[in-house]
Amino acid sequence: NQSLAEFDPEVAAAIDAELGRQRDTLEMIASENFAPLGVLQAQGGVMTNKYAEGYPGKRYYAGCEFVDVTENLAIDRLKALFDAAYVNVQPHSGAQANASAMHALIKPGDTILGLDLAHGGHLTHGMKINFSGKLYNVVAYHVRDEDHLVDMEEVRRLAHEHRPKLIIAGWSAYPRQLDFAEFRAIADEVDAKLMVDMAHFAGLVAAGLHPSPLPHAHVVTSTTHKTLGGPRGGVILTNDEEVGKKIRSAVFPGQQGGPLEHVIAAKAVAFKMAAQPEFKDRQERTLEGARILAERLTADDMKNVGVSVLTGGTEVHLVLVDLRDSTLDGQQAEDRLHDVGITVNRNAIPNDPRPPMVTSGLRIGTPALATRGFGADEFREVADIIADALQPELVDAESLRKRVTALTDRFPLYPSLAPLA
Ligand code: PLP
Repeated sequence: NQSLAEFDPEVAAAIDAELGRQRDTLEMIASENFAPLGVLQAQGGVMTNKYAEGYPGKRYYAGCEFVDVTENLAIDRLKALFDAAYVNVQPHSGAQANASAMHALIKPGDTILGLDLAHGGHLTHGMKINFSGKLYNVVAYHVRDEDHLVDMEEVRRLAHEHRPKLIIAGWSAYPRQLDFAEFRAIADEVDAKLMVDMAHFAGLVAAGLHPSPLPHAHVVTSTTHKTLGGPRGGVILTNDEEVGKKIRSAVFPGQQGGPLEHVIAAKAVAFKMAAQPEFKDRQERTLEGARILAERLTADDMKNVGVSVLTGGTEVHLVLVDLRDSTLDGQQAEDRLHDVGITVNRNAIPNDPRPPMVTSGLRIGTPALATRGFGADEFREVADIIADALQPELVDAESLRKRVTALTDRFPLYPSLAPLA
């Protein structure tokens, strides 16, 4: 019955330090967010102790009456949130959701067509040493050189040439909306299934601020911790009964054993949160913040130092900064922002001239700051700080760090969480 701090002060101190880091810096990694207290409580609770192989009402273990309650809540809320007929809330992560969806729909050796990792796709969409690249025959589509938009002509041409069994639409680093109807039309032309991985933009879809892939895709996968703002985890959704059945057995026993019922309880909390009016307001601020950032980083002073943003703007929660003409490479820009208290990740841009560990780009997202409460005024200040930081001769890091602290002080994060140690 020892507390964490008593039994393991090293771990307690590291968790405290991480809380301090999150509080004192501006979190702008596009795939991150701050889960609300209710999600942290559910995920940190006693449901972690329970084995519950199977599904609500049909478990392989006794004592599942209460985890059935939370899993059913998660299922019903997720269906309502995205207007989906069949959902699975058990995938441990986004990667597991994708593995299960592929397991359900195609066989090893089949051809898949997904967005190239170097052009904004995800590892699980066919990267060579990922399971997707090892099990399936991968063909990749790209963004166009001239405007960095997904080349739908190439998608159609490759689909007709290679006759994939599965086409994957979705991305980890792309600042625009995809044309799901067009993807579906191409899939139908070659008798392929369409999987949309909405991991990044699911929160925007839930808020009605981004087109939903559900009317078009045979199957939709997602994470629950990015724009959606819940616990780390995955989900799968479909309106096709046959696909729904296949997904059910592909997740368990196909890919996983016991579901993480504490995480599923936290997913239920997050889906309730995503149905509230405040959630829509937050997603609106997320989008506005990204637009403000894109505008600031395409202003004349930035052009003069060789900084711009891919596609010239954004329609989602992130901006891809193009540093090909800047004296700062991706690594230096990431380090410089880290020094002033802004956390982003460097990101290779399509046909990047610099090596993958260095890169010529940054991916900067606004979901976590919108969750923290930032609105247009704060995002203007953040965009200015970033613009100044990317012009190193202009302003010293110390004064930028002070401006960051002024913002973090005004928007306390997890004010009720006490230190563990
Ligand atoms: N799909 C997309 C589009 C992603 O961006 C990610 C994560 O970055 C994943 C899937 C995988 O999610 P996880 O890290 O939970 O496995």
